[in-house]
Amino acid sequence: MRPLREGLLLLSRSGTVKRLVTTLPVSKQVVRSYVPGEKDADVVRAVTGLAADGLHATIDHLGEDTTDLEQAEAAVAAYVDLLKRLSAEGLTPRAEVSVKLTAIGLALPDEAAAGGGFKIALENARAICRAARNAGTTVTLDMEDHTWTDATLAVLRELRKDFPETGAVLQAYLYRTEHDCRALAYEGSRVRLCKGAYDEPEDVAYTDPEDVDRSYVRCLKILLGGQGYPMIATHDPRLIEIASALASRYGRAQGTYEFQMLFGIRPVEQRRLAEAGETVRVYVPYGTEWYGYLMRRLAERPRNLSFFLTSLVSKK
Ligand SMILES: Cc1cc2nc3c(=O)[nH]c(=O)nc-3n(C[C@H](O)[C@H](O)[C@H](O)COP(=O)(O)OP(=O)(O)OC[C@H]3O[C@@H](n4cnc5c(N)ncnc54)[C@H](O)[C@@H]3O)c2cc1C
Repeated sequence: MRPLREGLLLLSRSGTVKRLVTTLPVSKQVVRSYVPGEKDADVVRAVTGLAADGLHATIDHLGEDTTDLEQAEAAVAAYVDLLKRLSAEGLTPRAEVSVKLTAIGLALPDEAAAGGGFKIALENARAICRAARNAGTTVTLDMEDHTWTDATLAVLRELRKDFPETGAVLQAYLYRTEHDCRALAYEGSRVRLCKGAYDEPEDVAYTDPEDVDRSYVRCLKILLGGQGYPMIATHDPRLIEIASALASRYGRAQGTYEFQMLFGIRPVEQRRLAEAGETVRVYVPYGTEWYGYLMRRLAERPRNLSFFLTSLVSKK
């Protein structure tokens, strides 16, 4: 399965394939099973539905790897508008937002932005954090491939000086992550732990899925045994069971940590955990830039690929 996963992750970066796939009359059903829509109204409807089931949400305005200043500014404006709308609809604090720093300027070349991408991304992230606080909710910084880890954590450190509620994301597949968990397991620190979604080289990351799972458990122990607020992002039934057992072992009451899953993946399990009293947050992506996100989801579940390809052909 690994070559197929690697191939799909490679395609997720291909501009040519992106143009081909996004202009083909892709079955709405396939994209919609992971992305509820392209407009604010679509995401508000989805989050309202989740709220009715007792679920929380973190919303991602889709986009990444922006090398255009105007596009980065448009992404910030989209988040600010969305946050106002969520507040007006009474959906905050139940709904927060997730932000990829490369969507708001981190990847901008120095000549495109005075002070470089780091400075622009930090200022843009501050604007989103301010809008989130005004709306009564929070921001989590998504984690991208390992080339951005240091810069993302540096932006996080700066942001937390003014917005200590800002969430971090750590990826269990990186060798460095146990160390990062220790550094971030302090009081009030919101940390999402996921396996990691990118195709990483073996000099920085575990490539055997069992090693990734073992690392995930070690990181869980650090976060659940620490003083912060762990956000356990996985659909893996075994890891969910282990996380629940570790939460009890460390004397964690429900609500001092949360589970997170992606929109459209294991919705029955999302509701089961919520009914059992757990806080469950669903990651809801929306917008027109769904291509990279969809390809990463297909890479995790290659058996969905045949369904996807059939739908491409049958809708022609
Ligand atoms: C809330 C949330 C936020 C995330 N944020 C980030 C981030 O910032 N950076 C990052 O790199 N990654 C992020 N990820 C993705 C994550 O790193 C994994 O790539 C993804 O969650 C799949 O890993 P898994 O833990 O679910 O385990 P897997 O081993 O992939 O899957 C375990 C089980 O879950 C089910 N499942 C998994 N995927 C699918 C699917 N596509 N369709 C149907 N069933 C499926 C299957 O039953 C499977 O056996 C996030 C994930 C979540 C849930």
